[in-house]
Amino acid sequence: MPTDKKNPLYYVWEYNDVDRAFWQEHMADWLPMKIFDAHTHINDPRHRLVKPTQAMRQQYWVNEVFEPIGADDAKRCYSTVFPDREFSCLAFGMPSLDYDLQASNTSLQQATVQKGWYSLAVIRPQWSAQTVVDLLNKEHVIGVKVYYSLISEDTGSRDKHIEDSIYEFLPHHQLEVLNEYKSWVTLHVPKADRLGHPDNIREIREIHERYPNIKLVIAHLGRCYTLEHAQEALPQLSDMPGIYFDNSAVLNPQVHRYAMELLGPNRILYGTDNPIFYMRGRRQWHKRTYTNRTNYPFYFNTDRESPEIEAHYTLYMYEALRAIKSAAQDLNWSRDEIDLLFCGNAQKLIADCTHKI
Ligand SMILES: [Zn+2]
Repeated sequence: MPTDKKNPLYYVWEYNDVDRAFWQEHMADWLPMKIFDAHTHINDPRHRLVKPTQAMRQQYWVNEVFEPIGADDAKRCYSTVFPDREFSCLAFGMPSLDYDLQASNTSLQQATVQKGWYSLAVIRPQWSAQTVVDLLNKEHVIGVKVYYSLISEDTGSRDKHIEDSIYEFLPHHQLEVLNEYKSWVTLHVPKADRLGHPDNIREIREIHERYPNIKLVIAHLGRCYTLEHAQEALPQLSDMPGIYFDNSAVLNPQVHRYAMELLGPNRILYGTDNPIFYMRGRRQWHKRTYTNRTNYPFYFNTDRESPEIEAHYTLYMYEALRAIKSAAQDLNWSRDEIDLLFCGNAQKLIADCTHKI
């Protein structure tokens, strides 16, 4: 038996022999040499204003696993999980009012210039058009990340605004300047019903028609983590080739396969949603719900698998890569098509954004 070498990754996670073996067996010869992560959260931990209480952490599984990661640590982690790859990314801070958003945007922007990465500014709907313009004029800032929990604070729940209209957190005065600047907008859709909710579909189609220069990227395949959600939502936007999707946080092989077949190789951008997806374990699906399995004794982790199974867990982000690989193989995607998903599509959109005005 080889000695189990463990590298600290981030927070409670590490990179171990299971991960090394996974990389060698499944990824080393398959994954393109150039990787672009179009959805990663990087936020200097110094800019967290509110330390989460135990009660806040226990409210929702993401709160318990999400610790901010600075740019240098993020870079170290990426070189660990993508050995021998040329890596770049589009990063944004934590979309949360518990952080100093302006300070987070500024320090991330400086880090991305230094590392040759790009960033989206995290913005609140109350911010003026001029404030957004000032952010967009900074080097390597190519657009914005918006989120419904930035409408107003509610420490009791992150979902106070989940049923709101997209325009409540991405208002017209901001859409106008984003259109003028040909900006990238990463949109995490609202509604408990996810992307398929008729209001989401109507508003997204409307935004795309009224503000055609915006590079609209729907995060997490529209939060379609199960095949049922994907099947009811994605066909409703399949006729609009100018709307893009990132596949971050999606682990489900059936969803990847369905989206890749339906949308083709030009509209999906690889994303991780790190640092959350350094989590070790696997996800299981049942109709429209899912269960996260992990080996760390989190509060939410009440239904553990056997130690033998847990010993074989790899990183969630590797499980996502496994799912993308199996879908690409099933669909007989060419090397060029695989390269588009992992890098080319994002690079093309960025080249378009960086013309600015
Ligand atoms: Zn995210």
